[in-house]
Amino acid sequence: MKIAMLSRNKNLYSTRRLIEAAEARGHQVQTIDVLRCYMNIAPHDPQVHYRGKRLPTFDAVIPRIGASVTFYGTAVVRQFEMMGVYSLNESVAISRSRDKLRALQLLARKGVGLPVTGFAHSPDDTRDLINLVGGAPMVVKLTEGTQGVGVVLCETDKAAESVIEAFRNLDAYFLVQQFIEEARGSDLRCFVIGDKVVAAMKRQATPGEFRSNLHRGGTASAVEITAKERSTAIRAAKIMGLNVAGVDLLRTDKGPQVLEVNSSPGLEGIEAASGIDIADQIIEFIENNAAPGKTKTRGT
Ligand code: ADP
Ligand code: GLU
Repeated sequence: MKIAMLSRNKNLYSTRRLIEAAEARGHQVQTIDVLRCYMNIAPHDPQVHYRGKRLPTFDAVIPRIGASVTFYGTAVVRQFEMMGVYSLNESVAISRSRDKLRALQLLARKGVGLPVTGFAHSPDDTRDLINLVGGAPMVVKLTEGTQGVGVVLCETDKAAESVIEAFRNLDAYFLVQQFIEEARGSDLRCFVIGDKVVAAMKRQATPGEFRSNLHRGGTASAVEITAKERSTAIRAAKIMGLNVAGVDLLRTDKGPQVLEVNSSPGLEGIEAASGIDIADQIIEFIENNAAPGKTKTRGT
């Protein structure tokens, strides 16, 4: 197959692993920086151009689109979809999962377990917002944050009020969420491909920290997950419409609760922790599923 790898840098671990795995299985891969693509918007013969030339037809594209280029990156994926090219994750699914509010609303609508969550921009009644999620201890998060930045634990209502008032002046959207104490600074990353969890890891925060992100010093280890955790992760990916997803779960007294669904889950931490060749399984999934015109949404 001819595969387009939509990634800004072929030296990133996940990008490199996917290219290696595809080549090892006999495929040809071209890495494409989405920001350098330009396109025609036309009812017939949509095209993507790159470095002065029309790109050839591909059998599949693998979007590895960074959060900061979501807007243009999903437009490029949509253009490939209009051309009938199979995308491992469809543009609509990527957009859904990147918009945290939209994602949580979709999951809630389908009855998936989530921590009690509120969201706001410039709430005119901070107390009422705090009460909406049951009061302190609670977590306040900027929706634009990644890697645990902008995620604050407020142990008292007073502290929560101060943080919300500070966020209100940032002209930003934020979430307020019930703090799941029994997770004890750990979460589960379930790596979903199709209708299977192919690998899972437990991330544990450093002592005194509740955020388990590896970028915040968290450590990862292999973990056995329960049948309920497995089905929750698969369901969350399916609701987003993602074929490949990294689903983050908290272990709570009420069972697994979804924190986030990632559309470009990193391979490095989880391949190391689980010892599983995830890149190879992704390419195998593409071999079994890529077909022209298979995109369900056609970019709508
Ligand atoms: P980011 O997308 O920036 O990683 P998250 O919402 O995933 O932000 O939060 C970072 C980490 O903080 C999580 O991996 C988890 O360990 C911890 N965490 C987040 N929300 C909660 C919560 N409501 N209760 C307990 N721990 C939480
Ligand atoms: N690579 C990020 C992770 O695995 C997710 C990126 C995204 O899809 O938002 O946590």
